[in-house]
Amino acid sequence: MSRSAHPAGPRYADVLPEGHYTAPPTDLNALDPRVWSRTVTRNAEGVATVGGLDVKRLAEEFGTPAYFLDEDDFRARCRAWRDAFGDEADVFYAGKAFLSRAVVRWLHEEGLNLDVCSAGELATALDAGMPAERIALHGNNKSAEEITRAVEAGVGRIVLDSFQEIVRVAHIAERLGKRQRVQIRVTVGVEAHTHEFIATAHEDQKFGLALAGGQAAEAVRRALKLDGLEVIGIHSHIGSQIFDTSGFEVAAHRVVGLLKEIRDEHGIELPEIDLGGGLGIAYTPEDDPREPHEIAKALGDIVTRECAAAGLAVPRLSVEPGRAIVGPTAFTLYEVGTIKELPGLRTYVSVDGGMSDNIRTALYDAEYSVALVSRTSTAAPMLSRVVGKHCESGDIVVRDAFLPADLAPGDLLAVPATGAYCRSMASNYNHALRPPVVAVKDGAARVIVRRETEEDLLRLDVG
Ligand SMILES: *Cc1c(COP(=O)(O)O)cnc(C)c1O
Repeated sequence: MSRSAHPAGPRYADVLPEGHYTAPPTDLNALDPRVWSRTVTRNAEGVATVGGLDVKRLAEEFGTPAYFLDEDDFRARCRAWRDAFGDEADVFYAGKAFLSRAVVRWLHEEGLNLDVCSAGELATALDAGMPAERIALHGNNKSAEEITRAVEAGVGRIVLDSFQEIVRVAHIAERLGKRQRVQIRVTVGVEAHTHEFIATAHEDQKFGLALAGGQAAEAVRRALKLDGLEVIGIHSHIGSQIFDTSGFEVAAHRVVGLLKEIRDEHGIELPEIDLGGGLGIAYTPEDDPREPHEIAKALGDIVTRECAAAGLAVPRLSVEPGRAIVGPTAFTLYEVGTIKELPGLRTYVSVDGGMSDNIRTALYDAEYSVALVSRTSTAAPMLSRVVGKHCESGDIVVRDAFLPADLAPGDLLAVPATGAYCRSMASNYNHALRPPVVAVKDGAARVIVRRETEEDLLRLDVG
């Protein structure tokens, strides 16, 4: 079981959490398939390879730090989600996890839809040819310009998040002579992270309209009166890195309760419900995520059962996995620069990136694993903390990891499961140049997002 029940947990704990990594792994050279993308393995020389390419060659060609994305794995995960949900449901990839034009094309080819939550994400999606009707626009404070661009483009749905936005989207749609398909985002009083979910009486957070107290019902009432809107359904997103469907069960129960209220009050059955994303992945071998087909079956059963109990026809279901598709498909490759042993404490291993390419450890106490990938080693395990090169003591990439004691500057380390929320949250802190994303497939590597350059930085600084 993973320790991180976001956002709890000691942020800068200097002791190993109880029951976690108390013993070193039996084989430090193993690349556990639970956390590495599908084509990662070691070659006869002990060098890790992805898509048939060895990481030493990749480092020479593309530099470090860099993200390597396993295209076959990405496409296989898209297909697994799409096939699991079949024709009765829609899978929307949450673009905020990682978005680029290549990724949009893969999604399009594999039959997925796409969630965006800003003008920039919308522009990327449209530019790469995603049909507008397969795009959903999210966000708790979409600007008039963002709404206008989305309505003009003809996006399939806008997820409304506030009373102001109901009116705003309706006005913009009317002005453009359109009727915009919308869902209303509700907060169901459930918060889910990792293995636990908490049912709360009221939701103290910025997203959505609360079911409790009738805000959500009032939002539906107002939206149904506006000519510019076609209300197609209700949306709920309960959390992130969730392993267990019990939170979705409570959410579905409450959403279906609202659908029933709407039917009783307005005489209409809304045709769609969206249960959001947040499905967990394995960051470390202790994490044990469910397969897409198990999740699809569980969610389908829950919705069917709740609708039968409420006497409603089963609405069309949609889900929005981001992390569960892209997260496991990439790793970050770093070069070791310095190694500092703190006697009796641990060894600090500094790599050539850090919180600028992976903020999740500092931000959420996220856990990662790490491996020496440029060679194998028979040295004893050494309790290590992998840190970055930034001017911040919280600049930790992997809080607790065992690495071989003969680790040396120039060795390459790789951190798996960095496909989601790493490049997309990367920053220029310390004027770091954000790393490239390199797609690897069948023995060929191609840059899909290039490395930033000093010229890129200086171009924005107009003096
Ligand atoms: C972030 C988000 C998602 C995706 O979350 P993951 O944890 O990446 O699956 C889906 N839907 C909404 C509304 C979100 O905000």
